[in-house]
Amino acid sequence: MDHFDYKDGVLHAEDLPLSVIADAVGTPVYVYSRATLERHARVFKQALAHLPRTHIAFAIKANPNLAVLKVMSREGLGADVVSGGELARALAAGIPADDIVFSGVGKQTHEMVQGLDAGIGQFNIESEEEGIELAALAAARGQVAACALRVNPDVDARTHEKISTGKAENKFGVPIDRAGGIYARLAGLPGMNLRGVAVHIGSQLQDLQPLEDAFIKLGDLIAELRAAGQTVTHADLGGGLGVPYKAGEVFPSPAEYGAMVGRVCAGWDVTLQFEPGRVICGNAGVLLTRVIRVKRSSNGAPFVIVDAAMNDLARPAMYGAWHDFDAAVPNGSRMVANIVGPICETGDTFAMGRDVDALEAGDLAVFRTAGAYGATMASSYNSRGFVCEVMVDGDKFAVVADRILPEAISAAERVPDWLE
Ligand SMILES: *Cc1c(COP(=O)(O)O)cnc(C)c1O
Repeated sequence: MDHFDYKDGVLHAEDLPLSVIADAVGTPVYVYSRATLERHARVFKQALAHLPRTHIAFAIKANPNLAVLKVMSREGLGADVVSGGELARALAAGIPADDIVFSGVGKQTHEMVQGLDAGIGQFNIESEEEGIELAALAAARGQVAACALRVNPDVDARTHEKISTGKAENKFGVPIDRAGGIYARLAGLPGMNLRGVAVHIGSQLQDLQPLEDAFIKLGDLIAELRAAGQTVTHADLGGGLGVPYKAGEVFPSPAEYGAMVGRVCAGWDVTLQFEPGRVICGNAGVLLTRVIRVKRSSNGAPFVIVDAAMNDLARPAMYGAWHDFDAAVPNGSRMVANIVGPICETGDTFAMGRDVDALEAGDLAVFRTAGAYGATMASSYNSRGFVCEVMVDGDKFAVVADRILPEAISAAERVPDWLE
């Protein structure tokens, strides 16, 4: 459920007609709904409320905007970060260091130091090599780093190959069949408090079975580690819950997920950690765009050329992803069209042969479910600048990320004097 609905035939974000935003800040622009973000955070918390000890860390790579993080921090969520930049954002949004988990397969030395300086709650170690380096760094500083070992359970998440992370051939985690030995070696290092295990098998998961399979393997590993005398007080179950991108699609609910976790993890006697990203913010944002023109094609559907492009919303070009596309003020008729951006790549295509609201030049429309992995993946390709972001609260809105104009980007470039 989200708060982007038609009222008297006009698409609103909460109580605000989208045209008000377009008139004020131009297009393309990401529009987030505060009420939707809050609702999704609460639904997720509620779904886990029956579990004894839990910790929820919003995976901020899904939407690292500071205002979005502020909403999460006010809801009491921690943060799962994957870079020093994300760590700084989480802290800037007021998320307590202790509630921050640092994931990622390529943490650099300076990023580990940044995490140790901040006193973050947990590092999720993705290799034996990384664990050895982190332990040495911590020990040299007289610190002890709280860590979990991320394992690769070799489970097929049955999602897009580019966002599957739990197959043996993926780069993430240590092979689960070698985890016992690695855990024992790392746990013995000075500077390391290895206290748990972690999995994250992929994103946009459409059913719970792959997650359940991974959690069962993780439970077996916990038992094996304890039998070998190791201490395990934490288990991080990652993120991955999918969201519907097409109207009418049905996905497992957070409540069903929570019930499955309760069943599979009963008796683990650990703090269960969660790293939801997309399921919290996906439906809480749309990308608002204006039609530049409609170009007839010699055969087949016309091209509706919009002012948003693959540099603003990369998912269709990157993953072949679907985003529902709706007029801000539908006139009642429909058309079959190809929805494309202005960028000089055929990949800059949002939809082919799609049945959509009839549109003409100047009309406003939205790509729905753009709140996750949207603005954060933006680039300035074709010197288009970086897209603007706003957040709506009731009938008011605020710009939460300025549009960065092409001039500002080229101002950071230099021509060496030997080219003058
Ligand atoms: C991306 C990621 C997540 C969040 O995934 P979603 O599918 O957005 O829930 C959680 N944990 C880790 C380690 C990640 O890399």
